[in-house]
Amino acid sequence: MRCKDIFDRIEQWAPREIAWERDNAGLQVGSADREVKKLLLTLDLTEPALNKAVEQNCSLILTHHPLLFNPLRKIDTFTDSKSRLIEKLIKNDITLYSAHTNLDYTKDGVSFELASRLQLNNVKFLVPLYGRQSKIVVFAPENICEKIAQTVFDNGGGIIGEYSGCSYTSSGKGTFKGSDKSNPSTGIKGKSETVDEARLEVVADNWKINKIIEEIKKIHPYEEPAYDIYPLNNKNGNFGIGAVGELSSPIPAGDIIEHISLKLGVKNIRYSAGKDGPVKKVAVCGGSGAEYLNDAVSNGADIFITADIKYHSFQEAEGKIFLADAGHYETEIFALDAVERYLKESFSNIGIIKFTENVNPVKFYNK
Ligand SMILES: [Zn+2]
Repeated sequence: MRCKDIFDRIEQWAPREIAWERDNAGLQVGSADREVKKLLLTLDLTEPALNKAVEQNCSLILTHHPLLFNPLRKIDTFTDSKSRLIEKLIKNDITLYSAHTNLDYTKDGVSFELASRLQLNNVKFLVPLYGRQSKIVVFAPENICEKIAQTVFDNGGGIIGEYSGCSYTSSGKGTFKGSDKSNPSTGIKGKSETVDEARLEVVADNWKINKIIEEIKKIHPYEEPAYDIYPLNNKNGNFGIGAVGELSSPIPAGDIIEHISLKLGVKNIRYSAGKDGPVKKVAVCGGSGAEYLNDAVSNGADIFITADIKYHSFQEAEGKIFLADAGHYETEIFALDAVERYLKESFSNIGIIKFTENVNPVKFYNK
């Protein structure tokens, strides 16, 4: 197996096209063509994590946070620790790859995994992504439409939320007149034709469209298949930011922070108190999600759990919604389990090492 097989599989789940536009998810260092039998998962690439990968003969490291984020002007291995990591990766033939905001914004990614640790039900995205989808409309003889629809589904089209194989077909009349140079599969060139046709409509993510059209052309009987691509402004049910769901039974306001602490195994939680009543609806956003506080409020959440929260955000939330900062590392670390499960389902013979030692740069001093 090659690194790129693993990248492709991850990107089927967490496409890079959905990542934050300023993100740098994807290959960081090394070759995508490198053979891989064993890989290491870590939230961040640190020196101990890299040492572990070397010691365990891992040829691939998958991180959540990209090592390379700001433009790199030089690789200075004397003064810069990031440069030394790059040098060590290359010297040890290790490829480095990151699934960052694409893993945040996909279903069963970072925030969904956090929601699952809190045993939330009816989990949905807190803030849906808009757009990035188009409607493909194909005109074809009715008897081939099912096959065309299947081709679109096989190439990742026709997914709306929890439903796959979504399409719509209507019947009508198509007209055309081929030129002298045409070679129509139906009718005669130079003569106006009217034929029974169907109009097939399917949604698809924008980055899948070129491949879908290419595959449709292979099976469409017409010399010049007629199709349209309409950009959509719909809410994209397949991707979003954060997650919101419900606890199976309400928890008294006075017990909710302890409940979170136990479920997440987090000792230190900074928080501001919300309303006095019981807590039922919970919004989460793994990592830095304070900017989605108003979305948590408008979703009717009783508590919003995220990280990197500022003083004034706590002040803004007080009395309205519980706002809890459970730590950046602590709200994201479970995502490694989600990646591990996903890769193990796809590649039964791959060795996966999860590195969770010494990665959190934030320490707590307790007197
Ligand atoms: Zn993060």
